[in-house]
Amino acid sequence: MSMPEIAMEVLLPQEPASEGMPASGRSRQDVDFWMNCVGAPLVLVEMQQLVVRQANRNAAILFGRGLEAIGQCPMEELVGPEATRMLGQIWNVAPVGTPGEPFIIPAQVQGQERSLMVQVTKIAVEDEVLRLFTFMDAPPQGSVALAGWQDNMMSLLNWLPFGFEIAGADDQIQFANSTFNELFGFSQDDISDIEDWWRVAYPDPEYRAYARKQWYDSIAAARAEQREMTPFDLEVATATGRTRTIQFRHRTIGNFNINLYIDVTQERAAARELKTLAETDSLTGAMNRRRLMDEAARLHAESRDRSAAFSFLMLDIDHFKSINDRYGHSVGDRVLVDFTRRCLDALEPQDCFGRMGGEEFAILMRRPDSAAIEAAAEKLRCAVGATPFGIDHDDLTITVSIGFFIFDSETSLEAGISRADKALYKAKEAGRDRVIMWKAP
Ligand code: GH3
Ligand code: MG
Ligand code: MG
Repeated sequence: MSMPEIAMEVLLPQEPASEGMPASGRSRQDVDFWMNCVGAPLVLVEMQQLVVRQANRNAAILFGRGLEAIGQCPMEELVGPEATRMLGQIWNVAPVGTPGEPFIIPAQVQGQERSLMVQVTKIAVEDEVLRLFTFMDAPPQGSVALAGWQDNMMSLLNWLPFGFEIAGADDQIQFANSTFNELFGFSQDDISDIEDWWRVAYPDPEYRAYARKQWYDSIAAARAEQREMTPFDLEVATATGRTRTIQFRHRTIGNFNINLYIDVTQERAAARELKTLAETDSLTGAMNRRRLMDEAARLHAESRDRSAAFSFLMLDIDHFKSINDRYGHSVGDRVLVDFTRRCLDALEPQDCFGRMGGEEFAILMRRPDSAAIEAAAEKLRCAVGATPFGIDHDDLTITVSIGFFIFDSETSLEAGISRADKALYKAKEAGRDRVIMWKAP
């Protein structure tokens, strides 16, 4: 079923309407003349509200009203509330003058149930952009059932808990469900052109360029391989100014492109929180052993083809048991927290400091050479032992022993850690409060 070809170009402005500001379109008289030349009911409607501006004689006949009486008439009086609601949902962000896909709506026309086929075209009249509805009787065969089916379908689409959009083969939006509207809060007037969407949803030009590339690259790959697009997330600005994390899904069905917009803001935030919890030592806030080992594996792999010295340092607080014994476990806990702070302050931001367990800590460090690593370890040792930890007891002083190993290209991570551990043991044996580098026996 195809709509009759109407001489649409004559309704178009000479210059296409540019973004934001509608171009000066055809004069009202011109539009009136051409609308009456077309053999289908035509109704010109305001963008914001579904109120008739102008209609042709065929529309006057279809809706049983005089041409005068139809002007300023709410669409609801012509087609009933249900059809009006649907008309409000048919988006057409195709360029001005390009008709959207036809939809069948079950309408109340002059007190009778009618299935009408409607096509929406944006046109510029004088200095505003209006919506032109072209009505046709839907094909009689099974049309009532079809209209009912489409009505149910629309209800279903509106009920979906995610934004659902139908776009034509040219990717211009034809329909958006009510969840899409609720999710982003933009109206048809905010988004009258696909460029408007990119602008309002991604206010930061740099991120917009990234989002656009992501979108078109992913779609191109999916279409080339005739499959659904691989879903991805983007941070999208909404009309309220709040940013939401949206998972995008896209696939082609028949002549239509279907876009899904799933709000995953809460899931992603919860996952990030869980990940942080799983990687953080709850007492000191430092990386836990698991995270430190992940980082170690990554850095160890990277360090093979680098000239800089990569080192694993093992730290153990000296005589920590006696702190617990003398001042109690909670003071011991606070010492561990303050110890962590002192170490982080003495380290460089790129160093990885973590708690291995108990009063044992470890550091992944990269420096130009072994002397620089030794100097950094020595600085750390002094930062810990130099001044008392002012926790209830002014004289509470601790020291730390440090063993470290500088990786060569052959040594495995496990062997390197074990060597740092052996160096630490040597530091303890030698009297504690010192730094020892592993050396081949
Ligand atoms: P050394 O100089 O040989 O390392 O002696 P040390 O006393 O530090 O070593 P040891 O391994 O004998 O004792 C470690 C103590 O650390 C034992 C344990 O009670 C204490 N400890 C381990 N985890 C915690 C903790 O989370 N909080 C507190 N307060 N103490 C802890
Ligand atoms: Mg220990
Ligand atoms: Mg100890």
